[in-house]
Amino acid sequence: MTHRICYNVNVIVSALKDLGVESIVNVSGSTLSSVKCGGVVDLIIKPNSTSKLIDALSLLNAYNVPFIPIGAGTNTLITDQGFRGALVDLSKLNKFTVRGNQLYVESGLRLPYLAHKCASCGLKGLEQLSGIPGSVGGAVVKNAGSFGLEIADLLLSVNYLDLPSLSERVVDRPDLPYSYRSSSNFFKDKIVVGATLNLTPSKDNLSLEISRYRAIRLSRQPTEPSLGSVFKRTSSGESAGYYIDKANLKGTSLGGAMISTKHANFIVNRGGATATEYLGLVSLCEQTVKEKFNLSITKEIDIIGEYHLDQ
Ligand SMILES: Cc1cc2nc3c(=O)[nH]c(=O)nc-3n(C[C@H](O)[C@H](O)[C@H](O)COP(=O)(O)OP(=O)(O)OC[C@H]3O[C@@H](n4cnc5c(N)ncnc54)[C@H](O)[C@@H]3O)c2cc1C
Repeated sequence: MTHRICYNVNVIVSALKDLGVESIVNVSGSTLSSVKCGGVVDLIIKPNSTSKLIDALSLLNAYNVPFIPIGAGTNTLITDQGFRGALVDLSKLNKFTVRGNQLYVESGLRLPYLAHKCASCGLKGLEQLSGIPGSVGGAVVKNAGSFGLEIADLLLSVNYLDLPSLSERVVDRPDLPYSYRSSSNFFKDKIVVGATLNLTPSKDNLSLEISRYRAIRLSRQPTEPSLGSVFKRTSSGESAGYYIDKANLKGTSLGGAMISTKHANFIVNRGGATATEYLGLVSLCEQTVKEKFNLSITKEIDIIGEYHLDQ
C-alpha cells in the first residue's frame, strides 16, 4: 500500500528553515544506510539541539508528516520503495561532557569516535564497543554489544523525548527492560537524545586495546558495505551464521547482494545491490534454515519503508 502524500514538502522545508533546522529533500537510501542501497526518502531533518528537535517535530505533526528517527543507519535498510515521510537524523546532536567518571553524550555521536575520545581522556569502558559503527542513540535502542559487553552494561540513564507530549524525560538504567540486542520496544514513540555512561578512570593504554579489538574484527568481518549481523543469535545462544553456513549459503548472491563468504551472518553489497535483492537473501536464509534445521531465525536489522517479499 502506498501512502498518499498530503503535504507540500517545500512549505515544510521553508518553515524548518525559519526554525533554524537543516533539512534535505529527496534523499537516496544509499546515502542513509551503511549497506548503500534503498529508495528515496522525502525529507531528512537534522536538528542540532533538543529544543530544535522539539520545534521541528511539532511542525511535522502539524502537517501530518510521518517521521522515524535514524542514527548512523548501520543497522537499517531502506526499502527500494523508499519512505514517504521524514527521517529525523540525529547526527548533529553530537556533544559530550565528562564529570568525573560519568559521561553524558548526545545520541548522534558515533561509538568509534566516542571510544577514541574516552581512551585519550583515560576513561575506560568503551573499548569493546569501539568497532560498532552506529550512533549512541542507535546503540541504546538496539542494546548494541560486542566482545561480551553491551551498552546496557555501561548505562546509568537515558534522556529521551516522549513523542506524544514532546517533552524530555530521563529513565534510569534499572527501569529499562534490556535483553540481548533489545530494549523491548521501550523506545517506541520516543527519541533518545542522550545517555549517561559510567566509565572508569584508567592509566591503561586504552588506544592499544581499541586497536586489538579492531584487528580481531577485521579478521572476522567483511569490509564491503553491510548492516552488520543480519540475524540475532538463536534462543539457545547459537550464532545464526552457524546455521546459514551449515546450509551452504555462504557466497550465494542475488544481483549485487551476497551472503558474505567471510561471515555467513553478513549480507554485503558488492556494488549496485538493491534493497530488494538484500531482502531476497534475508528471506532465503530464513526459509532455508527453517527447512533444514526447523529453526526460526529473527532479524536483527530494522527496515524502513514498504516491501512485499514473502515473510
Ligand atoms: C560493519 C558493521 C559491524 C557491526 N557490528 C556490530 C556489533 O558488533 N554489535 C552490534 O550490536 N551491532 C553491530 N552492528 C550493527 C549496528 O552498528 C548497531 O546495531 C548500532 O547500534 C546501530 O546504530 P545506528 O545509529 O546505526 O542505528 P540506526 O541503524 O540508524 O537505527 C537503528 C534503529 O534505532 C532507531 N534509532 C536510531 N537512533 C535513534 C534515537 N536516537 N532514538 C530512537 N530511535 C533511534 C532507528 O529508528 C532504527 O529502528 C554493526 C554494523 C555494521 C555495518
